Amino acid sequence: MLISGVGAHICERCVEQAGLIVSEEKALKEKQKIPSFKLFKPHEIKKHLDQYVVGQEEAKKVLSVAVYNHYKRINYIRSTEGDHDGVELEKSNIVMVGETGTGKTLMARTIAKKMQVPFCIADATVLTEAGYVGEDVESILARLLQVADYDVTAAERGIVFIDEVDKIARKSDNPSITRDVSGEGVQQALLKLLEGAIVNVPPQGGRKHPEQKMIQVNTQNILFVCGGAFDGIEKKIMARMHANAIGYGASKTGRIDRENILQYIAPQDLKSFGLIPELVGRLPVLSYLKPLDRDALRQILTEPRNSLVKQYVKLFEMDNIKLDIDEDVFEYIVDKAVEFKLGARGLRSICEIIMLDAMYDIPEGNQEGGVFKLTLDYARQHVEKARLGTLRVAS
Ligand code: ADP
Repeated sequence: MLISGVGAHICERCVEQAGLIVSEEKALKEKQKIPSFKLFKPHEIKKHLDQYVVGQEEAKKVLSVAVYNHYKRINYIRSTEGDHDGVELEKSNIVMVGETGTGKTLMARTIAKKMQVPFCIADATVLTEAGYVGEDVESILARLLQVADYDVTAAERGIVFIDEVDKIARKSDNPSITRDVSGEGVQQALLKLLEGAIVNVPPQGGRKHPEQKMIQVNTQNILFVCGGAFDGIEKKIMARMHANAIGYGASKTGRIDRENILQYIAPQDLKSFGLIPELVGRLPVLSYLKPLDRDALRQILTEPRNSLVKQYVKLFEMDNIKLDIDEDVFEYIVDKAVEFKLGARGLRSICEIIMLDAMYDIPEGNQEGGVFKLTLDYARQHVEKARLGTLRVAS
């Protein structure tokens, strides 16, 4: 086939050849210009978090510093290309302890967005040792690759949130001796990822890469953030502090704030909870999240940049309706969330129940330019009408 241009022709072979040369050159250029990270200072990161996450000051601060250091380290490695002056910056993965629905995932996700890096969530409970039914730890990286649209370089600097790490803790009183259900095998497998290794990842949805069996991913620069509720860890913390209080240096410990024991958490408590010491060692940054109280729930409802209320207002706005919510409705929603022990996650289910009828009817009506006023009576009626059992399940 000859393709004609102005005063010249080019054959299909030459077109293909030239196409190949162009894409090869482009790829090479792309590789050479792996951008160094735009570093955000800890204060900037924290400010960004403040817009989305209510409270949790301590955790935000710890996380901001850890993320800043992590990406500073990546830039350092890149600029020195291994030719550093003997100072090797080690990776600092993060572990966050706190009840479910207190903002652990939200925080990791918000940071990833700010840094513009791929982000994925993995559930530690479905992971198993290779050979057992379940997912191998490599599947975590497969997910990250998917999110990064199979751009390995991008994935290698992403953030992975591993939820419910507490569920793979070793249970010393486990009665089963027949096989490893204790989770220790999974912990061992995770170790490899966390410390930085080149892992062969089977690309899921292999249609994109039919010719490729495995993709090699280096986890050295991937930031792992682990989260877990660690139910009952307070007892371990208390036990440790008690032991300290009795022993040498007892007078230094001072008064203990028994309401919020979690603030004293230390790496050895994770060990007593059942994480293997090597894993605890690979998670050097440790922080905690406070349970959300009434005030925090109230703020979550309206204050974050994409708060629930702002989202509903936007939805109604699209139907040209102004949503006007009475102040006491907010209090009522928070009351219900507290009453059913649903935490921040429950706020949404309650809002959905209250808004359902309105959202069903309004697009049908001829209320162009109208106002929908949400009163306490209306909210109460709808919550009471709904089967509250479903709320409990939702938690
Ligand atoms: P977990 O701690 O279990 O990872 P999530 O981060 O997934 O909890 O929180 C669930 C939802 O609850 C979030 O999507 C968010 O809407 C809300 N939420 C929880 N904690 C906060 C918080 N501190 N500030 C704002 N929203 C929060």
